[in-house]
Amino acid sequence: MSQYWNSFVHTLKPYVPGEQPQDRRYIKLNTNECPYPPSPKALAAIEQAGGAALRLYSDPGATELKVAVADYYGVNTGNVFVGNGSDEVLAHVFRGLLKHDKPLLFPDLSYGFYPVYRQFFDIDVVEVPLREDFSIHPDDYQQENGGIIIANPNAPTGLALELGAIELLVSRNKDSVVVIDEAYVDFGAESAIALVDKYPNLLVVQTFSKSRSLAGLRVGIAVGDKALIEGLKRIKNSFHPYTLGRMDIAGAAAAMSDREYFEQTRRKVMATREQSAEHLRALGFTVLPSRANFLFARPPEGNAEQLYLVLKESGILVRYFNKPRINEYLRITIGTDEEMAAFFEKVELFIDGALQVTANG
Ligand code: PMP
Repeated sequence: MSQYWNSFVHTLKPYVPGEQPQDRRYIKLNTNECPYPPSPKALAAIEQAGGAALRLYSDPGATELKVAVADYYGVNTGNVFVGNGSDEVLAHVFRGLLKHDKPLLFPDLSYGFYPVYRQFFDIDVVEVPLREDFSIHPDDYQQENGGIIIANPNAPTGLALELGAIELLVSRNKDSVVVIDEAYVDFGAESAIALVDKYPNLLVVQTFSKSRSLAGLRVGIAVGDKALIEGLKRIKNSFHPYTLGRMDIAGAAAAMSDREYFEQTRRKVMATREQSAEHLRALGFTVLPSRANFLFARPPEGNAEQLYLVLKESGILVRYFNKPRINEYLRITIGTDEEMAAFFEKVELFIDGALQVTANG
């Protein structure tokens, strides 16, 4: 609190990211990063872009990156918007495409940034409850709205909608923009970018932070009809034209073009996920069928918070949400096979009652 803050700052409830503690080395299974390093080609491109040319401003149009994205998805560069992480892309989307007189719809359990932007941009919202099994159903979105945003796969559940269900959502809501946040799509779901040609009200947002191992670079994209992209560019260029630096543009473009490395790493993550889901089920956990790079799982006794604390004391971080309906679950990011083995060693001890939270846990 400060007398120098204006009333707006006083009202804010900022997003709380997963812990990034610096006190010791943890096995980090809490913020859905990729356990494998970025493509060597991306690293080489970043190093090269990081030379003397850094004295010059970066390309405000980030053309090299837009060309790489357009090539990959078979769209035009005019269908592509890029930003400083998908969080920034989403900020412009909320401000420019989802804020209208009618309420914005999003699921009541989803990415924690949506309610933050809702407040930041003062948008009327109706939070649509997930079904009992945590699924999203297009029928629940047949109500008056000025926009819809869903994450597919959803976070923190990992559940995904099929493309047909996404198409229903988009085709039934032609008067508003439907945003599909595909942060985790590369781990087994279908991208709605295939529908962008057909629906001028569809915008797909993706990130380089997960399947492309570049969370530290901060690059996100949106793909949609040219008019939607133009709107986003108007906002960006009224706020901060150089959102991506030279290293971001070069690294992300190279990562996008290195299809072989991308296929290898995402397949490794998916394979480890399936093994880990099976292992958790064998230990009595309830595990939702995930198409993301994390698992959402309930320990047999529902004592998720205890398990979270025990793991943290053992140097392993997972994500616990102290929220109604999901407070008996943990969200566990898929690590390397070695990291998952260390995780399971502790989980098994916990299940056997051999590991408990200490007093200061
Ligand atoms: N959308 C979803 C659903 C996410 O989980 C995240 C990552 N926390 C983001 C968007 C933002 O990712 P980034 O800003 O790293 O691109």
